[in-house]
Amino acid sequence: MYFDTAEGIVYRPPSEANSFILRVTIGCSHNSCTFCNMYRQVQFRIRPMKEIVEQIKSAAAYNPNLKKVFLADGNALVLSTNKLLEIIGLLKSTFPNLASITCYGAPKDTLRKNISELIELKRAGLRMIYMGIESGNDGILTSINKGVSSEEIIMAGQLVRDSGIRLAAMVILGLGGKTHTVQHAISTGKVVSAINPSVLGVLTLTLEKDAPLAIEAEQGKFIPLSPLETVEELQQMLQHIHITRPCVFNSNHISNLLPLTGTLPRDKEILLSELKELLSLPRKVQLT
Ligand code: SF4
Repeated sequence: MYFDTAEGIVYRPPSEANSFILRVTIGCSHNSCTFCNMYRQVQFRIRPMKEIVEQIKSAAAYNPNLKKVFLADGNALVLSTNKLLEIIGLLKSTFPNLASITCYGAPKDTLRKNISELIELKRAGLRMIYMGIESGNDGILTSINKGVSSEEIIMAGQLVRDSGIRLAAMVILGLGGKTHTVQHAISTGKVVSAINPSVLGVLTLTLEKDAPLAIEAEQGKFIPLSPLETVEELQQMLQHIHITRPCVFNSNHISNLLPLTGTLPRDKEILLSELKELLSLPRKVQLT
């Protein structure tokens, strides 16, 4: 979901549809994952406080009763803790009914913060961090140029959980293509298990025009999964997720063939049986 502005397209998670999107950065400081085209046309910059204050003032004039704010763009956690605290403080003093402040947080940026800083951000009002795990497999993480290892992703995820900030982790079906689907499913299941996020969002790889991974696919170097193979991959991934604390599971993103929601670990068998049911249908029914 997005809209156009003078400085590129603004993206936010589907669950932030009713939030005020406050761009504290423009673009993504990493900006080199091979499957991602979101901020390629935009020069990354951290917005100066003056611009942020102006945007908050405009929002307050429009709706002083705002309840939800999402700090954009791609990795707001790249900001120093002091600057984030200043922004959160300003938001809370401007909007007395504010109940939720959230942002994207890349594993690399998260690891630049210590637990005390994250606890301070939680106390100030940062309610949830959305973190793209994408895959738990080191070979795939290297090939997509994620810039972190599976071990670093686990450390970053656990750090957020230990701080008390809710963690919404996202994984992408099909990221290993046909060649690495089994490794992707098993390793990602293990990484999710080690982190035990509060929310797990499953998306399916969409090859964006001109993204490096789309070019690899055109050249035959990356072989995408078929829609049904993504369902098989999800089935295998779910089988390898073993968590104890409640985690809201959803695969209801528009990119997925089968939208599912539930709470893990309670609904794991129900979710698996729904996947099994789809996979056992005659092929022409599966795709309608
Ligand atoms: S997937 Fe996230 S970290 Fe990677 S380039 Fe896109 S916005 Fe940046």
